[in-house]
Amino acid sequence: MSKTTLTFVGGADMVTGSNFLLTDTESDTSMLVDCGLFQGCEDCDMKNREAFPYNPADIDILFVTHAHIDHVGRIPKLVKDGFRGVIWSTPATKDIAALMLEDSFKVMTFHAKKEGAPEPFFDEKDIAKTLAMWQTREYHDTSNVQGGYTAEFFDAGHILGSAMVKITRGERSIVLTGDLGNSPSPIIRDTEALPPTQYLVMESVYGDRNHEEKEGRTEYLKQAVEETIARKGTLVIPVFSLERTQVLLYELNNLIEEGEVSSVPVFLDSPLAIAVTDIYRKYQKYYNADVSQEIAAGDDIFSFPKLSFTESRDESMDINKIPGPKIVLAGSGMSGGGRVLHHEKRYLSDPKNTLLLVGYQVPGTLGRALQDGVKEVTIFGDTIQVKVQIKHITGYSAHKDSDHLLEFAADAKDSLEKVFVAMGELKSASFLAQRLRDFYDIDATVPKAGEEVILDL
Ligand SMILES: [Zn+2]
Repeated sequence: MSKTTLTFVGGADMVTGSNFLLTDTESDTSMLVDCGLFQGCEDCDMKNREAFPYNPADIDILFVTHAHIDHVGRIPKLVKDGFRGVIWSTPATKDIAALMLEDSFKVMTFHAKKEGAPEPFFDEKDIAKTLAMWQTREYHDTSNVQGGYTAEFFDAGHILGSAMVKITRGERSIVLTGDLGNSPSPIIRDTEALPPTQYLVMESVYGDRNHEEKEGRTEYLKQAVEETIARKGTLVIPVFSLERTQVLLYELNNLIEEGEVSSVPVFLDSPLAIAVTDIYRKYQKYYNADVSQEIAAGDDIFSFPKLSFTESRDESMDINKIPGPKIVLAGSGMSGGGRVLHHEKRYLSDPKNTLLLVGYQVPGTLGRALQDGVKEVTIFGDTIQVKVQIKHITGYSAHKDSDHLLEFAADAKDSLEKVFVAMGELKSASFLAQRLRDFYDIDATVPKAGEEVILDL
């Protein structure tokens, strides 16, 4: 029987840095799944700059599950270091990844100039080369790789274009999930059922906990809008550009067009989020049935009265001249940088305004300090008294929680021989692996970073 070696290069023992290597020496085939940035650790910058533990020139193909930077952020470095194979993803993933890589390069350049951080570890030429090597495959196009392998993408339901990749040889296969969506999502389709497979590498960000109810979140958003309108204030929402911005726009679209809240000026003040929203418009074929029906009935889900996309700096600065009530969505999502800082500097000191946090705020960020109730913050050298109303909505997570991860894997329990629980903190991954063993008698383990296993594949 043929053998494939699976190496957990990155994304083992941790959420970020997704990078999995599959090799078969007999047919001289090397495949990678994802090549993401390490994020949120003290030595992350160093890890991102380190040489890869394999020779990039030996890799024949790189499969990309989705465009989040912890799955794509080191691809230009892979190319810079000698990778000359092909890259495959869905078309939407390629388009969004192009934006994310350019943005990542800009952010690194900014930090190098302003704060003396090290220079970016790739440049714009590496990004251009990367995109030239990048081919696209639709979901369920089965393509021959080499060495007798075939590959197929399944919808992961996580963000637009997100895919799991199934790699098959003969009668046997492995599925690598990338990130798995918190289905149902308001816009994109549900995660597809896991097809029968012998091996599974699955994510486990929320492997040890369940989400609060999703149902309450639109009601809470509505409340935050209504209260701010009643006080004639400004509602500031720090947002991530990808997926959460589009979901919020869609929910505001529904609230305003259905007359649930009064129509007030709404600004999307983030060039990256505006560009990503354009890509969401381009790929309506990936939307779920309900949204597709709304669009067929004539609704543009990212357009409603008094919504403005403020791309230029001048337009952004002019938002201040518009009297409240108004709503401003701006990046970044944890107030670590971006235009939202200008709005926070302006609006945090007035109790008639509202700051609405829509996701997890990492300890150490300004967003987390505000969530924890600090009374004073420093933004661009100015001390600001925090008097704004602060609200926090959970339930916008784009990841499956523990129960749903368990259900997902159980779909293939009759064929599964081994599950590798990855892309989660050790505590989350271990808990999920334990549940898979206890509930379904599935052989599940948590691989260590750098660990190699031999598969009958
Ligand atoms: Zn992701």
